[in-house]
Amino acid sequence: MSCAKVPSAILVDLGNPDWIPDDNFQEFLKQHIPDADIRCASDPGNLEDICMIALNRAPTALAYSSLPNLQLVQRVGAGVDQVLADPALPGDVRIARLKPQAPAREIVEFCIAYVFAEQRHLFRYHAAQSKTEWMQIPPRKTQETTIGVLGLGHIGAKVAATFSYLGFQVIGWSRSPKTLEGVQCQHGRESLLELLGKCDFVLCILPSTPDTVALLDQTAFDAMKPGATLINAGRGDLIVDDHLIDALNKEDDRPVRAILDVFCVEPLPTDHPFWNHPKITITPHVSGWHIDDGLPDVAENYHRLMSGKPLLHEVDRMKGY
Ligand code: NDP
Repeated sequence: MSCAKVPSAILVDLGNPDWIPDDNFQEFLKQHIPDADIRCASDPGNLEDICMIALNRAPTALAYSSLPNLQLVQRVGAGVDQVLADPALPGDVRIARLKPQAPAREIVEFCIAYVFAEQRHLFRYHAAQSKTEWMQIPPRKTQETTIGVLGLGHIGAKVAATFSYLGFQVIGWSRSPKTLEGVQCQHGRESLLELLGKCDFVLCILPSTPDTVALLDQTAFDAMKPGATLINAGRGDLIVDDHLIDALNKEDDRPVRAILDVFCVEPLPTDHPFWNHPKITITPHVSGWHIDDGLPDVAENYHRLMSGKPLLHEVDRMKGY
């Protein structure tokens, strides 16, 4: 009697050679799981053996239809919107993501950098210097500044806690109710517009899901506090681009400036109006970068998949994150 082989191979298909070449990640995984059959997308072997794909950029190089025994798509990163947007993704395949500490800390730093640039009027001093103008402006008081943090997950909760620690008034917003020390927590769509009206800074660290796409539209901008700054480090499609341009062009300063790290199309096309808008600051999706401390979880999830244990950071496909 022949015994059917259990599909147990991992396919490394990061699709991002400028970041981590597939063969480097294959080596990394081999060190953590030396007994596993780990293959690169360039030489995948018998596709029926593959039970797990590690990918960074979706879609996969191989068609899902050619992977009959695939059980897990392990995103080597945080957001899974591109994975879920692939219409070819089979309905029964599980999805997991990473929750590394380093990019969460880096996004906290990114937000701190731009919040204090506004608090201390650095953009205005830069402009004044170019005109040899001596212009004194009182710094804005931290304790009188309200920070709104949209998204209180792995990253957003750290952002909210940090600004609270720094002495700001902090209001956080999530899908479900939360309790965070020093943060006034709100949840649900119905509370969003009122929240936006209270915030001097709106820091957006939400995932892109069917519920959050186009969340920041004209209605949201109209609800913002005059003079507020918007920082988006979540996903580009949370914002309706045209509505943001219109809002920035109005004189009521709702918002007065937008700091954008993420965009609907990346790299941002050279002819996109964001590039030259005087009230927009662009960074090229760099607010969170290093994910090294999360990488061992890919190996751990392989073990868990093979032994039927709960996965680390499994995504709820219905919620979209
Ligand atoms: P999490 O899944 O840990 O947290 C997501 C948060 O968003 C949760 O608090 C969740 O609410 C909230 N949320 C989701 N949907 C809604 C909704 N409809 N209304 C209100 N709140 C909602 O994700 P992370 O914190 O790890 O990451 C967030 C996003 O940041 C990622 O999905 C990715 O897109 C982006 N990112 C960007 C990076 C960059 O370099 N710019 C780097 C890393 C991530 P609840 O708590 O109730 O579930």
